[in-house]
Parts: sequence; structure tokens; C-alpha cells
Amino acid sequence: MKETNAHIITSIPGPISRELQKRREAVVARGVSFSSAIFADEAKGALIKDVDGNVFVDFAAGIGVQNIGHCDDDVVAAVHKQIDKYIHTSINVCGYEPYVEVAEKLIKLTPGDFPKKVMFANSGAEAVENAVKIARNYSRKPVILSLEGAYHGRTYMAMTLTSKVMPYKDGFAPFCSDTYKIPAPYYYRSDANQSEEEFGISCANKFASLLKGELSPKMIAALIVEPLQGEGGFIVPPEGYLKRMQDICKENDIIFICDEVQAGFCRTGTFFCCEHERLTPDLITMSKSLAAGFPLSAVVGRADLLDAPIPGGIGGTFSGNPVSLAAASVVIDKMLAEDFCSKANRIGAVISNRLLSMQEKYPVIGDVRGMGAMVGVELVKDRITKEPDKESVGKITSYCLQKGVIIISAGIFSNCLRFLPPLVMSDPQLAYGLDVLEEAFAAL
Ligand code: PMP
Repeated sequence: MKETNAHIITSIPGPISRELQKRREAVVARGVSFSSAIFADEAKGALIKDVDGNVFVDFAAGIGVQNIGHCDDDVVAAVHKQIDKYIHTSINVCGYEPYVEVAEKLIKLTPGDFPKKVMFANSGAEAVENAVKIARNYSRKPVILSLEGAYHGRTYMAMTLTSKVMPYKDGFAPFCSDTYKIPAPYYYRSDANQSEEEFGISCANKFASLLKGELSPKMIAALIVEPLQGEGGFIVPPEGYLKRMQDICKENDIIFICDEVQAGFCRTGTFFCCEHERLTPDLITMSKSLAAGFPLSAVVGRADLLDAPIPGGIGGTFSGNPVSLAAASVVIDKMLAEDFCSKANRIGAVISNRLLSMQEKYPVIGDVRGMGAMVGVELVKDRITKEPDKESVGKITSYCLQKGVIIISAGIFSNCLRFLPPLVMSDPQLAYGLDVLEEAFAAL
């Protein structure tokens, strides 16, 4: 792609995209949603070119997947090399080195100096399913806890652990049994007269009281948490909260699972988000940016847990595809060699500072929050009542799209804008995107 920044040459969507959209609507299930009707032709770095020749600055990164940038040259070369050798033999039939090599790298990379093992799957939800299976198999206990506002995927257990009725849960009952939700530390929407830190600790204490009042720890296999809630609205837990939650798990023999599917791979300025609080989860689930757009996920954690299921108890035909693993191996090396954590911190600071200055001008911006380059903005109709303003989110995202900037939404009330740029976004691309965003706020 020769363009270096956004460049719009038709109305959006353009005529070729509109034609494709018509064909799509005729044959593709409506449950497979779309946030824009543009169709991709090429993508590179932080840019996507559509089939009409329009170029967009991409703040979605394929929903947090392209942290390394679209079509990174080294990833593409490694994938070509792998495809020329073999594509699939199934790890259960004929082993291959990339599976072992990436497992070795992930064991070194994840926090905790205890013996670890790894299993690979294909999607974030599948990693969550496997983490739950492993926790139950090891502990022989039934109950899985998750947080209000959580998102863990669309398969049955992952959906059950998720908290958003529309569109994720409505009409899909019955859900999996033996799961419970505990309050999330959503400080912006708390009415407690407490500091953020005190609020976090009081939320963690509610978990401790649940263990006294409602549920015996003898029944609880695991607690799963996102270290920074993604789909729920980019909710950053108060400092100390996650550490306290992990300690309560340890004291009560409950397996602590961190779901790093969205927050991992340098997104928040550390390789894994749980490193901010020096957590050492028993199990970590990861996917999205792990393989730069190739389907791959992993469960990494305590060897005694991973080794609990007997051979054949976990896995699947495509689990740990060699082409995806070839991409993952390059992602890991390159992110370390080129210090992608610093890139995330730098880009994130530019976005957050600009949003904070917009917040002073535009009352619709209720809250700006995030870590590193995982930044969210919560829009409200009124700063006192905090009534969620979903409509303005729609107006902003469609204004930005018309001008060549892709931004997606999030939040239990669908009233948040979320910024997940590829960590290779250039300064001019960043400036263009934020200028257009500011115009969109001014035009509301
Ligand atoms: N966990 C988290 C924290 C996620 O953000 C997501 C996807 N948004 C998932 C799990 C599910 O991943 P997938 O869509 O690949 O199944």
C-alpha cells in the first residue's frame, strides 16, 4: 500500500462495498454483526484500504488482534515459509516443532517462576473453555466465578461467564450450571463515598464475604477475571483490587485465572496486563494478538493444573495450527526485540492526554480511562446522573468512519468508545485520527 495516512475518495461505504454488503445481507446470518459496511482490500500497519480505494486509520486493530500491525513483514515471511513446508498434521497425530517452540517461549514470558505447561486452542472463547475444564478436572470442584461486566466469549461456558444480555445472552438459555457473578470494581459507576483504592478493597471484601455467607470454597474450582475489562467498557480495576482477589483465592484454594485475551501482548504497556500488579495467575488465557490475526489461543499456567486432564481430555483437530504458531513465534520475538510495551505506553499517552483535554470541552465525555494503549471513553447524557449516551457513540463512530477513522464501541450500556490501535501507528496517523475524533465531538 503506498498511502501513509487516511485518504477518502468516495462516499462511505463506496459503491463496491455497498454491492458486497447487499450480497452479504442475502447470505450471511444477521447474528454475525458488522460495525461498518466497508470491505477490506489491503491492510498494512495501522491502515486498511477498502475495495473502493478508501484508506482508513484503524483504531480497532481487528478487535485488539493486530497489536504488531496489519501484515507485518516478518510475520508474513514466516507464514509463507511455514505454508511451503506443511500446513496441518494435527498435533495429536504427528507432532511439529512450532508447537513446542511457542510453548517454551510462553512459559518464559508469563509471570510466575513455578513449573508451567501450555495447551493451544483456536479462539479466546476456546481458551476460556479449556481453562475451566482444566480447573474443574484438577480440583474436582464444580463452581466457576466471574465478574459482573465480564466478557469471555460466545461459546456456552464463556457466554455464561459473560455479563451482557443484549446481544450476547438474550434467547440463548439455558446457561451452564454452577457459575456465579461477583461485583466488579467499576469505580465510575459506584456511588460509594470512597477513594478508588478503598472502593477496590471493599469490592474484594464482598468476594471474601461470599465465601462466608453463600458458597463454600470447597465447591469453587476457579475465579476468572480480565485484568482490565474489555467489552464491559475498559474498566480499570483500582490498584490493589486484583492482588487482594488473588490472595483470597490462594487462602481458599481457588484457582485464579487471568483472561488476557484482549489486554495481553503489550497492549497495556506490560507484556501481560496482570504484570502491573505483579500477579502470578495459576492459569492465563490468551489469544487475539498472540498470532497477528491467525486463529490461535493458549492456556498457560501451573504444570500440575495443565497436566490434570488425561491424554485426549483437552485439545482438538486444529488446536495449535502450525501456520498460526509460526506467526506467534515472530510476534513474541519482535515484540520483545522492538519493545512494543514502550510503543503502547507512548501511543496510549498521546491518546489519553488528547481525550482528557477533550473532556474539558465536551460534557458528553463522562470518563476517560485505560492503561497503555487500551483506552476507553464513557459517554453520558449528564455528568451528574451519568445516564449512558449510546446514541452519541453511534454518531461519533459513523462521523469518524466517513472521514477515514475506524473506532469501535464497548460497554455494558454500549456507551463507550474504545481505542485499540495497532502499536505501530505513526504520529501523523494518530494525529489525524484524534483530530477527526475531536471534530466528531464538536459536531454532536
Ligand atoms: N476473553 C476476552 C477478555 C475477550 O476480550 C474476548 C473477545 N473479545 C474473548 C475472551 C473471546 O475471544 P474470541 O472472540 O476469540 O472467542
